[in-house]
Amino acid sequence: MKPTGKLKAARLRPGAERPTSVVTGAAGFLGSHLTDLLLARGHRVIGIDNFVTGRVDNIAHLGGHPHFKFIQQDVTEFIFLDGPVDYVWHFASPASPIDYLELPIQTLKVGSLGTHKALGLAKLKQARFLLASTSEVYGDPEVHPQTEDYWGHVNPIGPRGCYDEAKRFAEALTMAYRNEHKVQTRIVRIFNTYGPRMRINDGRVVPAFISQALKNQPVTVFGRGRQTRSFCYVSDLIEGIYRLMMSDYDLPVNIGNPAEMTVLQFAREIIRATGSRSRIVFKPLPQDDPKQRQPDITRARSILGWEPKVQLTEGLRSTIEYFREQLGAPRRGGRVR
Ligand code: UDP
Repeated sequence: MKPTGKLKAARLRPGAERPTSVVTGAAGFLGSHLTDLLLARGHRVIGIDNFVTGRVDNIAHLGGHPHFKFIQQDVTEFIFLDGPVDYVWHFASPASPIDYLELPIQTLKVGSLGTHKALGLAKLKQARFLLASTSEVYGDPEVHPQTEDYWGHVNPIGPRGCYDEAKRFAEALTMAYRNEHKVQTRIVRIFNTYGPRMRINDGRVVPAFISQALKNQPVTVFGRGRQTRSFCYVSDLIEGIYRLMMSDYDLPVNIGNPAEMTVLQFAREIIRATGSRSRIVFKPLPQDDPKQRQPDITRARSILGWEPKVQLTEGLRSTIEYFREQLGAPRRGGRVR
């Protein structure tokens, strides 16, 4: 696939050996995978995280890495960094519904004040900035699949409002810095993503179902399981995001896997893939749970020459393996400790 946008290699300042990237939320699920990719592509990475939802385990393998530096900090506070910065990747935020239900104010602050500080850093350093936004800006969508020009259907005062509105504000602020301060900005709208390093108890459907299935406990489907989601494997997502940063495109781009399924189908798939004896139980549907979600990735395909490659069965294999290790669970057929 030939991209229509201009994708360039990472830029290098005169005299610099490698580009410098700052990743906020570097100890999180996505931030840590992004950090790994950037280091593999020759960047120097400064990771920032306050460990509210991120975990040391996700970056422990980078201890002693010559091109990785870690700063424990809340990005809603002023970010002070010495030296040049070429790219700022703003990934810090609680991102699972139970996390932001528990941390509504921190979620609003990191999306607003944290985005402000990260944009301020990019402006000062003349770095390019990428905002990790979300499909949640579309809310419970009335347009299906969701295209980037859809404005969304969000309840500002519902349980998801703190996350959805923080990210919508973050997008608005990003556009304002682009228009007024001429900061080079990128906005990615991330759809449901899964893979190793998700927190086992973050409440999201992938860790919830896999850990329940591995323990042969009931798999909790909310509502009747008719709501749909489309799951993207983490390596596909990170590749798409890297391409977006290196492109010349500064309007929002959906990155996700368009393979849509119902939550009930997904529960059955997890039970099959883990070889579990779990049964399915139905629990009440949380308020404002989006009924359907599927990215339209026409824009990513044409501008970035990107589309997901990893099939669900393949992606689930490594994800299940990761959770097995986390739980200390035996291989298929055995009993769980
Ligand atoms: N879900 C479920 N059982 C669970 C956890 C989640 O049925 O134990 C459903 C949830 O109601 C939603 C979907 O799975 O419809 C995806 O939920 P998740 O928390 O992963 O994130 P969302 O896509 O809603 O932001």
